[in-house]
Amino acid sequence: MVARRPVPVPLIDPHARRVEDLRVSITDRCNFRCTYCMPAEGMAWLPRRELLTYEEIARVARVCVERFGFRSVRITGGEPLVRAHVTRLIAMLAGLGVDLALTTNGVKLPELAHDLRAAGLRRVNVSLDSLRRETFLALTRRDELDRVLAGIDAALDAGLLPVKVNAVVIRGVNDDEIVDLAAYARDKGVGLRFIEYMPLDAEQGWTREQVVPAAEILERLDAVFPIEPAAGGGPEPAERYRYRDGAGEVGVIASVTAPFCGNCDRVRLTAEGRFRTCLFALEEFDLRAELRAGAGLDAPDLDDRLAAAIAGAVGTKWAGHRIGGEDFVRPARSMSQIGG
Ligand code: SAM
Ligand code: SF4
Repeated sequence: MVARRPVPVPLIDPHARRVEDLRVSITDRCNFRCTYCMPAEGMAWLPRRELLTYEEIARVARVCVERFGFRSVRITGGEPLVRAHVTRLIAMLAGLGVDLALTTNGVKLPELAHDLRAAGLRRVNVSLDSLRRETFLALTRRDELDRVLAGIDAALDAGLLPVKVNAVVIRGVNDDEIVDLAAYARDKGVGLRFIEYMPLDAEQGWTREQVVPAAEILERLDAVFPIEPAAGGGPEPAERYRYRDGAGEVGVIASVTAPFCGNCDRVRLTAEGRFRTCLFALEEFDLRAELRAGAGLDAPDLDDRLAAAIAGAVGTKWAGHRIGGEDFVRPARSMSQIGG
């Protein structure tokens, strides 16, 4: 007898938003130490046995797709490309038929881009906050600008399209590079997303003054490369703009000054299997406990239990976070531990 596949039932949160995007952190480790994310040293890594295995990650992703009709899965970290045999995971997820993407600091793309594409990865976002060697080094604490630029070229060459560059803008550090980054992206034919600096740095050094508001980023861009709002808005957090001269698009993610929570469609799975309904959520749901209970992945009721746990968690999804509000509470974990 052929097993029948369940018909997906859309997962709707208490604020009538459909949840259909899963972000999976596959490691808390990283080969960079970006100041806005990690401390220079002293991070305690998760022991290996605490990380979900690729089989466990793929199982959660499959339940999200088969039971709830999720449309996209993004792999992130920490730095996802430092986890061994990441192409094996990509190949396991490629069969789900979803929009499969990955966010990386790019430093390992020169050697991995083609293998990732061959394994079934569709596209990548590469973080690049500066085109100046000293600023890049100061921000990432690694002198790897050239390799990241080569990584972006490798991603383009491998057809991981569209390649998008993510740039966190911090006042007094790289805000004088907004136009240069835009010129680079226009020239390369890659997308660009400017991200407002969020209070998720491990060293808790974030201040409101360091945030360059999206409106200011757009103003500075428009002065050199005139832009206009791009048509069509989806659940993407970026507000999208089109260059009037036809040289593509640029986006800003105004997580602090104009949060995009209203049409948020995403949930997250941390490297150790905690399910989170918001970057800033204070509550986590332990899917690893379900995955490892009883007969583990062979348990006949595992999919049902996972689906119930996921649906229950989504039932607690907030309407929105409150960065800047008086009642804002920073999550206990920083960006690399949650999975950006
Ligand atoms: N290591 C990969 C990378 O850097 O692209 C993936 C993980 S990283 C946590 C994901 C994204 O989060 C990156 O684009 C990074 O720039 C962004 N990010 C990290 N800390 C941030 C912060 N405090 N505010 C805004 N964005 C942040
Ligand atoms: Fe690593 Fe990405 Fe965090 Fe930078 S932003 S320290 S590359 S996880």
